Amino acid sequence: MKITKIETFILHVPVTRGDIADSSHRITHWGAPGVAIHTDSGLVGYGYSGTHAHLPTDRLITDCIETSYGPLLLGQDPTEVRGLWQMLYETSEILWVGRASIPHLALGAIDVALWDLKAKATDQPLWKLLGGSAQKIKAYNTDAGWLNWPLDRLLSDCKRLVETEGYQAVKIKLGSDNPIADLKRVEATRQALGSDVRIMVDINGRWTLPQAIQYGSRLADFDVAWIEEPIRFDDVQGHRRLANTIQTPLALGEQLYSKDHFREFIHADAVHYVQPDVARLAGVTEWWQVAELAYCYCLPVVPHVGDMGQVHIHCCIAHPACDLLEFIPWLVPWMKYPVKIEDGYYQVPDAPGAGSEPSEEALTRMNKI
Ligand SMILES: [Mg+2]
Repeated sequence: MKITKIETFILHVPVTRGDIADSSHRITHWGAPGVAIHTDSGLVGYGYSGTHAHLPTDRLITDCIETSYGPLLLGQDPTEVRGLWQMLYETSEILWVGRASIPHLALGAIDVALWDLKAKATDQPLWKLLGGSAQKIKAYNTDAGWLNWPLDRLLSDCKRLVETEGYQAVKIKLGSDNPIADLKRVEATRQALGSDVRIMVDINGRWTLPQAIQYGSRLADFDVAWIEEPIRFDDVQGHRRLANTIQTPLALGEQLYSKDHFREFIHADAVHYVQPDVARLAGVTEWWQVAELAYCYCLPVVPHVGDMGQVHIHCCIAHPACDLLEFIPWLVPWMKYPVKIEDGYYQVPDAPGAGSEPSEEALTRMNKI
């Protein structure tokens, strides 16, 4: 099988419940700039990144795919995924301009598309190609805890997720200008959901280290399962100091672009729940390396879902460090084989591929290219 054509797309889809915000971002749409890799077999592999649906920066990613990586891929055998990843990663002109951000996001979309092709070529879902055994993965839901929602909406939505939809874990956003009000949201959520539900909080990097020590230490009163991105994303030593100071475990990884970044945090004992993302790292290939690293340190891997879980469900089924996966529903209506959640568990996908193929309708109606 040979690669014959590289075609890019930029999907912008509305977030399910209107305009949503955390402490650092406010968005109305989710972006999926990505690539379709065509082959002489007729099979097509799809991969994409996850963005805030900002067309100028989405175009940086698709331009990088088309003009920097694309010519290197034509004529190659797409099933040699790891070899191609290494070749693309080490292309000196691209490496020179960055081992993170745009070139890495572009490489991630390509890598997912190659894994999608390889799984389709062997007529099996990716989790099986990766050596996994069919198992349902527990989901936690982030789509009820937005920071711009008043307390009554936060509580009614969290209760609906738990009592009606069967979730046993939810994440709520903190990091407003008023940390005392933030703590009251956590207390009210715990009271509304009872003691059996897992509650996680996400600061999205907003607190200073002193704030994180002061207010983060009070989260244990509400049995919070983890505090996510409590302080600035790259501050390894700050996270290490915080991890040694407060009882609540730390989670992070959605702003880390490479296995090297993860190694720094893990080696420094600065993270407890490791959150790699195939759409932020350079795809499944590098995600797997991070998961192996975490597993060697006996740390749980709970991915961030820039892909909205479509590819991650395959990775989680296959990797022993995973038993919990975030769920946000924004891409569900726009995928050919959307993930399914029942009673708070991701169902096992059975279609061949990585789950990364958008629907025909998405590629025509929602495509900004
Ligand atoms: Mg987060």
